[in-house]
Amino acid sequence: MLKKLKKYKLLAIFFVVLLLLSVAFNGIVVASANKYNGVTIVLDAGHGGRDGGSVGANGTIEKELNLSYTLMLKEKLVKAGYRVELTRKNDDGLYSNLAKNKKISDMNARFEIIKKTNPNLVISIHMNSFADKTAYGANTYYRVNDEASKNVANIIQASLNNFCGAKTKFALVGDYYILNCSYYTSVLIECGFISNPEEEQKLNSQNYKQNFTDAIAKAIFIYFGKRTV
Ligand SMILES: [Zn+2]
Repeated sequence: MLKKLKKYKLLAIFFVVLLLLSVAFNGIVVASANKYNGVTIVLDAGHGGRDGGSVGANGTIEKELNLSYTLMLKEKLVKAGYRVELTRKNDDGLYSNLAKNKKISDMNARFEIIKKTNPNLVISIHMNSFADKTAYGANTYYRVNDEASKNVANIIQASLNNFCGAKTKFALVGDYYILNCSYYTSVLIECGFISNPEEEQKLNSQNYKQNFTDAIAKAIFIYFGKRTV
C-alpha cells in the first residue's frame, strides 16, 4: 500500500512538472511571437476629416485609401515585432475644431505625435494626382540633404519598383511638412495616381493593397536588418 502510494505520488509530481513545463514553454512561444524588436515606427495616413486630399478619376477619396494602406501596413509591422504608432486611426482629421487654420492645427498635431513617440522611422502614406491622366506609378520622397531618409526611401522605392514597375528609379527629394517638421528619419510614399483611372482601380483592389503593403514591409525589414517576412 505504502509502495503504491509512493508510486502515485511520484506520478503526480511527474505530471505537475510536465504541466508546469508546458505552461512555461507556451509562455515562451507566446512571448517570442509578440516580442518587441526594438524599432518604433510612426505611420501617418495623410489628410482626414474635412480634408479629403485628392479625388480620383472615378471619385476615390484619397484620405480613405491612405488610411486603408496605413492600417494594412501597421498589421504587418506589428506582426513582425515593430512598435507602431499611428497619427490618425480613423477618418477624423487631427485638427482642433476651434482652430482658425485647420491645416496648420492638423499638421501640428501630427508633429506632436511624432515628437512624443520618438520613432526610428516615420512613414507618411498618400495617393498622387496629376492633370495628365496618364501619369502613373509609386514615388517615395525624402527630406533634402538627409542621408538616412534618402537611404530608406531608396530601399522602399526599389521594393515598390520590383512589385509594380514604377517608372521612377530612385526616391525623390520632397518638400513636405511631414518630412520637414522633425529631424527623425522620414519618408513619404505617394502610392500611385488616383487621377489615372486604371491605376485608381488597381489601388482600390484588396489584392493590390496587400501586395503593395507587403512591398513596403519587406523594404522596412531590409532597412532594419530583418530579412524575412
Ligand atoms: Zn495627399
